[in-house]
Amino acid sequence: MRERRLRWPIARGLERTLAGQRLQAVERRAKYLLLRLERGTLIVHLGMSGSVRLLAEATPPRPHDHWDLILENGQALRFHDPRRFGSLHWTEGPPESHPLLAALAPEPLDESFDADYLFRATRGRKLALKQLLMNSRIVVGVGNIYASEALFRAHLSPRRAAGRITRIHAAALVAAIKAVLSEAIEIGGTTLRDYVNAEGTPGYFSQKLFVYERARQPCRLCRTPIKQFTQGQRSTYWCPSCQR
Ligand SMILES: [Zn+2]
Repeated sequence: MRERRLRWPIARGLERTLAGQRLQAVERRAKYLLLRLERGTLIVHLGMSGSVRLLAEATPPRPHDHWDLILENGQALRFHDPRRFGSLHWTEGPPESHPLLAALAPEPLDESFDADYLFRATRGRKLALKQLLMNSRIVVGVGNIYASEALFRAHLSPRRAAGRITRIHAAALVAAIKAVLSEAIEIGGTTLRDYVNAEGTPGYFSQKLFVYERARQPCRLCRTPIKQFTQGQRSTYWCPSCQR
């Protein structure tokens, strides 16, 4: 440990708790990485600017490399976080019951996120559809780019009141969200600011975008210029002719 003062301070004595335990699996839930050890789970949150890299233990630490998880094979899992909004928690119970994870909405690629779920979640909501999709109490991990792109593919306006979609719309939107995310994962993420994948290279999904950051450029389907406006402090891009 080089710096324990993250978003929450790292528990005292955690090093002793972890020593000698075998790392059995690495999973993810929303923005949390779950490192399954023999007697419990390390819950790692990357915050706004955090990353973990697997490198040789002897690699000299850079500024903001706050802790290492040293493995038997001479490698270390190293946590880097300039803004220190990330966190590290240990739990011996099921991680899904931990207070950080217990209230999380479904994963977009999980079976539980389906047309019925989205249709029910939108009933009676006046909130604009795009803002509802980006609300992590409805579904986790659908960020600005993917919400914009999924709405385009489902031919739905980002401004439409969420409560005014039909069950057929909900089915189209769920399918579009799953397709957009699956394709982005396949290609290796979106080239965006400081995004890099585990190999440290940028993603290429941006070449497949239909609306995001394409303001005034012709729609790839109908040639109408793509429009941009601000919704909940985020830029929204859409085709006024394809999306209703
Ligand atoms: Zn169009």
